[in-house]
Amino acid sequence: MQQPIDLRSDTVTRPSQAMREAMAQAPVGDDVYGDDPTVNSLEERVAALFGKEAGVFTPTGSLANQLAIRILVAPGEELLAESNSHIVRAELGAAAVFSGITTRTWPAKNGLLIAKDALDLARPNSGPYLVSTTGIAVENTHNFGGGTIQPLAEIKALREGANDLGMALHLDGARIWNAHVASGIALDEYGKYFDTISVCLSKGLGAPIGSVMLASKESAAKARIWRKRYGAGMRQVGLLAGAAHYALDHNIARLSEDHRRAKELATAIAAVNPSLIDPNTVETNIVGLDLTELPISAAELASRTREAGLWISALGPKYARLVTHLDFDDQQCQAAIEILKRALVA
Ligand SMILES: *Cc1c(COP(=O)(O)O)cnc(C)c1O
Repeated sequence: MQQPIDLRSDTVTRPSQAMREAMAQAPVGDDVYGDDPTVNSLEERVAALFGKEAGVFTPTGSLANQLAIRILVAPGEELLAESNSHIVRAELGAAAVFSGITTRTWPAKNGLLIAKDALDLARPNSGPYLVSTTGIAVENTHNFGGGTIQPLAEIKALREGANDLGMALHLDGARIWNAHVASGIALDEYGKYFDTISVCLSKGLGAPIGSVMLASKESAAKARIWRKRYGAGMRQVGLLAGAAHYALDHNIARLSEDHRRAKELATAIAAVNPSLIDPNTVETNIVGLDLTELPISAAELASRTREAGLWISALGPKYARLVTHLDFDDQQCQAAIEILKRALVA
């Protein structure tokens, strides 16, 4: 059988030969001493892209998120986030475990922000009985929402409301690059509305490792201390920052190809059964399938496609996810569609 087609996530890509060469050639130094020139230039570069003062390179997006909310929200205070957000569901309770932060959530259809839903929950300066809200997190694109792009008008409304309440805003921008390419909204436009931002280089951009937490100089300096305390002070890590620079140079604009292929997958799947997905909701590189009207579970569908050489994720009993990425081409897209058609009617 051919190499399997792996659509479990956009994290499964392998660094290309050219990226490996960029890594090999990157000048390095001890980053704990601030001496790694490739890390320093990466942090400055990503901060400038988003109009932020400073960046902190981290091994994972989860750590970038956790450092940000650690800085914004004190122990015993509260962070608000959408019910299906990565911070709440996919970081293993880190905010509670490491930072003593509690969360309250609001549900949103396809993860799409309605500012009022979040603002109505917020309770700043709640006195001696109730938990005080100090931060709100927004995920863009929204992973479990199906790669949806947050409406700028709602982000603006959230910022205005947060200002009135004296509240900080964090952007989980693991896939903000996809939102930027699909919407045409500039990265520094997104950057304007948030106090802290996390971005991943290891998702659609195809670096093997790496995220950056963006903030004010002062907050970034604090985050650097917490990064070391959490055990993620890294040494000659310019090898990885070199991959990240390469990804920023070559892999942003091409995300539109991933979006086109995701749309093709969704359209073909909807032609088999329109209850599975509305292709109009597929804005970026994630195709989330709702199997409630089918007699099979997501796990059963994933095992059928796997036998035929296509790997997808079963993220809920009736929810399957396909994610397109830079190691997935047009030919594989056609093959994946054929496999899915057979698996869905079987
Ligand atoms: C992948 C992801 C992260 C970070 O994940 P790591 O695996 O820790 O790098 C954060 N937020 C969202 C929305 C993600 O999809």
